[in-house]
Amino acid sequence: MNNRLSEPISTLKGVGEETTELFNDLGIYTIYDLLEYFPYRYDDNSLKDLADVKHDERVTVEGKVHSEPSLTYFGKKRSRLTFRLLVGRYLLSVVCFNRPYFKNKLSIDSTVTVTGKWDKHRQTITVQELTFGPKQTLTGIEPVYSVKGKLTIKGMRKFISLAMKEYLDDIHEILPDEFLLKYKLQTRKEALRSIHLPVGQEQLKQARRRFVYEEFLLFQLKMQALRKVQREQSKGIEHKFDYEKFDEFLHTLPFPLTKAQSRVVNEIITDMKSPFRMNRLLQGDVGSGKTVVAAIAIYAAILSGYQGALMVPTEILAEQHAESLVKMFEPFAVNVALLTSSIKGKKRRELLEKLRNNEIQLLIGTHALIQDEIHFHQLGLVITDEQHRFGVEQRRMLREKGENTDVLFMTATPIPRTLAITAFGEMDVSVIDELPAGRKAIETYWVKPTMLDRILSFIEKETSKGRQAYVICPLIEESDKLDVQNALDVHSMLTHFFQGRFQVGLMHGRLTSEEKDSVMRRFSQNEVNILVSTTVVEVGVNVPNATIMVIYDAERFGLSQLHQLRGRVGRGSEQSYCILLADPKSETGKERMKIMTETNDGFVLSERDLELRGPGDFFGKKQSGMPIFKVADMVHDYRALEVARQDAVELVSSKAFWDEKKYEGLRMHLLQSGILDGEKLD
Ligand code: ADP
Ligand code: MG
Repeated sequence: MNNRLSEPISTLKGVGEETTELFNDLGIYTIYDLLEYFPYRYDDNSLKDLADVKHDERVTVEGKVHSEPSLTYFGKKRSRLTFRLLVGRYLLSVVCFNRPYFKNKLSIDSTVTVTGKWDKHRQTITVQELTFGPKQTLTGIEPVYSVKGKLTIKGMRKFISLAMKEYLDDIHEILPDEFLLKYKLQTRKEALRSIHLPVGQEQLKQARRRFVYEEFLLFQLKMQALRKVQREQSKGIEHKFDYEKFDEFLHTLPFPLTKAQSRVVNEIITDMKSPFRMNRLLQGDVGSGKTVVAAIAIYAAILSGYQGALMVPTEILAEQHAESLVKMFEPFAVNVALLTSSIKGKKRRELLEKLRNNEIQLLIGTHALIQDEIHFHQLGLVITDEQHRFGVEQRRMLREKGENTDVLFMTATPIPRTLAITAFGEMDVSVIDELPAGRKAIETYWVKPTMLDRILSFIEKETSKGRQAYVICPLIEESDKLDVQNALDVHSMLTHFFQGRFQVGLMHGRLTSEEKDSVMRRFSQNEVNILVSTTVVEVGVNVPNATIMVIYDAERFGLSQLHQLRGRVGRGSEQSYCILLADPKSETGKERMKIMTETNDGFVLSERDLELRGPGDFFGKKQSGMPIFKVADMVHDYRALEVARQDAVELVSSKAFWDEKKYEGLRMHLLQSGILDGEKLD
């Protein structure tokens, strides 16, 4: 960055100590920060036909003074000035308080521009601003900045235009000419001027276009550079193993892999065999069969003489995976261990000891797996399941756990493409885009809570045939704040209703690990026929005999979450059903229920979810991987995002980008982000 721009904000004329603090509060420390402080919206004060303006709306008009102004005083200081103004075919009154000095300047037939509140009934404008002479186009659209405390929007405008006057010439282009030409983009200087001092809607649109592209390009460059550096600076493990043994394992699987599963297995194995370190995201809709893909990759690592780790978000899921992987690996002399927070003391010490000695080849667990005291003998592959909420930082941490360890992230939340290339831009992506053969589409119904009787008899009918049901409630127990169903009440209601005929289980987050375990085990063995639960079963749980999913107060859940919950059924060959009990009041709520009944495709749902909720909410509040764009909007500007990504991929892989002068501006940005200094990486 140019030196002058990095001067502290206090060097700007009129910015004293107090104002400096006000600016600092907004994160503005330098002149550059100020120039890069963009408006969040614009007020349109351009001239309008008064016929189109509503009562009490703010309006700007230009007209000719039509009568001698009359001035009345009340007391010493307060005054009121009125005159008639001819605006096109309108003759209206203008009222101006406490500015007596205007009187002598307003001569009949002179042109003035007036901004103020329009009283349609009295045909009067009460003046907020009055300028002599015709409207200056520059003030047509006014930027509105987010401000705090004593700093007003007007003040902010004043300081910014001052800074623009003084420093605009120090703003340098960072995009190479070829891009400006190719996409017909304004220069950085032009665009910055239009952003702060817009002269018209079209220029503003163009300025926005430029910054959208710039933001996306810089972001994608970072991602692509990170990807390149990670690949090249990392010495990966070249997994080498016996193919015959590997094939043997594939042949013991109870089903043939789907085409999509085979394809992603190939992609993963290719990465594992390469000298680069794998950093891959595996996306596959609920029920698409990711677990078996994970098992295959883990077996390849173990055959190569390494250990594997499988990390999941909940204990329930850890238990379940442990159970099924133990079974899968039994004939192959692979030792699988489960590590959860409930494994303590001597048992835990023994387990960790075995892990260090390579007596355990696969460790399954929750976040507990990345704690400091856990040491592997030789960790070759880490897989995380259902970890779409992981941010870039956490992904980095996990990679650092083992030396050169290959990493695979699995997620069932189908991520809209725009989000995937944003949040996971630095990773390679594999997609399982088909479900195993023979699955029947889940039938989804949206019903009012008043139809509970019919739902109960439906559950009864299905359970009589040997099937099982989940009943999901938003809360564990009654709350005076929220009028929604709670698991305890529903559990006792159903227990009573099905007494002597069916077993009703209860699952929620406040049970101990042992209790959760036991309920889950009894449910998967069909000793419990109906499971009342909170959303703790949302991700990953696999009980293929369950065919009914009832969700109370479904309007309280997001689309992706509903889709995840629905994904707990339809995992076998029987017809499955999802019943949404909801009475949403808002249009969006109704829309969400409707979409759920219309599609089973997680990718379609996630695109719709993104539209309805916006990107900020998509990954939940806790996510930390999503960048915040100042101007760009991932939903509306997705085309620009795709273009910028493609450009970034090409740039980073070209030699010219790293050598030639014209790319210096872009390279500087990468340097500033710390990606190229290597320190943050290994
Ligand atoms: P998810 O992708 O949601 O994690 P799972 O791995 O739990 O899905 O698989 C869902 C169900 O599908 C499991 O019961 C699993 O055994 C079964 N399954 C996985 N792959 C296949 C396949 N190729 N053919 C038939 N069933 C499969
Ligand atoms: Mg799964």
